[in-house]
Amino acid sequence: MSDSLFADASRRLERALKYVSLSEDAIERLKYPKASLIVSIPVRMDNGSLRIFQGYRVRYDDTRGPTKGGVRYHPKVSLDEVQSLAFWMTFKCAVLNLPFGGAKGGITLNPKELSKLELERLSRGYVDAIADFMGPDVDIPAPDVYTNPMIMGWMMDQYSIIKRQLSPAVITGKPVTIGGSLGREVATATGAFYVIEHLLPKFKRVPVETTVAVQGFGNAGAELAELLSKAGYKVVAVSDSQGGIYAKKGLDIPSIRRFKEANKGIKAIYCEGSVCNIVEHEILTNEELLALDVDLLVPAALENQITEVNVNDIKAKLIFEVANGPITSAADLILESRGIQVIPDILVNAGGVTVSYFEWVQNRSGLYWSLEEVNQRLKHKMVEETEAIWKIAEELSVPMRTAAYVYGLNRLSESMNAKGTRDYYLNT
Ligand code: GLU
Repeated sequence: MSDSLFADASRRLERALKYVSLSEDAIERLKYPKASLIVSIPVRMDNGSLRIFQGYRVRYDDTRGPTKGGVRYHPKVSLDEVQSLAFWMTFKCAVLNLPFGGAKGGITLNPKELSKLELERLSRGYVDAIADFMGPDVDIPAPDVYTNPMIMGWMMDQYSIIKRQLSPAVITGKPVTIGGSLGREVATATGAFYVIEHLLPKFKRVPVETTVAVQGFGNAGAELAELLSKAGYKVVAVSDSQGGIYAKKGLDIPSIRRFKEANKGIKAIYCEGSVCNIVEHEILTNEELLALDVDLLVPAALENQITEVNVNDIKAKLIFEVANGPITSAADLILESRGIQVIPDILVNAGGVTVSYFEWVQNRSGLYWSLEEVNQRLKHKMVEETEAIWKIAEELSVPMRTAAYVYGLNRLSESMNAKGTRDYYLNT
């Protein structure tokens, strides 16, 4: 597909526009990001040389509050990708009714090639470059693909040094000892788990008779696979960027996680030592995993995994998008015509930003919550908004994705209208 990711992302919005009465002003504003920043980050490498990295931060829309979204370190990061992710964050925050707009950031690099010290210099350099673009009431970054609490801690520290004032609320997903929230690291998976648990009975399914394949064994995918298998679901396949494994009887997720932690990579390590002997398994490619005949398919890796090219191979009955944008808009239409239900990213993976919001609230109030309190509030929000979107989908007879966009759009347009629209001014 020659289309940009952003053009494809905007198509979802167009589809939802039919079902909402949105002012022309709002439609026009949502077509463009509020501000996009491209920066060069000079980093002194361990061997003494200087390398310049390209970084981005896009603030898509701040009608509902300061902009919010992660920072991604990946070789494929581009302005188009960051802009699309910022667009999705705008809707994700509106769907969860968080007082935030949407943003995203990224640096184009393979973080595995840098030493820890180089990564620290790069992360601090990124904050030096975007410091005037961010702030607890302006724009609040967080972790995303290949960034973690330690990196968030460096960024928060750097921002505080620049401002000469400790500013924990400028970034979320920090280590707990310096203002991070309990439960934030696993919040994306925990939130997705609550969504799945809430919707499963509606599809007349029970966990023990539900087979699952998870693509992506990072922070979200691995944790969700474990939560599901603990709850009785049969997780038959998992994969990472190197490939995956399949076992009809179900996989022992905690041991795969331990092996991956110790040896990196699922495919290689799974066959070393005792785990191989526990269950018979097959080695799979990522493509094969996506085509498995399972009840639930969970893409939890990157964008554009299910496209026009492989959509007809998909046999799963239900897809829960834990990654952002794993299905293209063209593939979406084909899945719909084949009766395969897709539960969209802007709902399913919103647990991460929801607990980020809780972290920001805790930083600003100075009162820190127990894990039980975080999870109870997260569950309440995820279930409430899932149910509301389910009802819209039923009422309008539209897919869950369109329903989620309708829901988010209504909140966004209400906020835009509250600040004055063309109709308001013409009528006065
Ligand atoms: N990067 C995550 C996402 O895509 C979390 C963003 C945040 O916590 O602000 O939703």
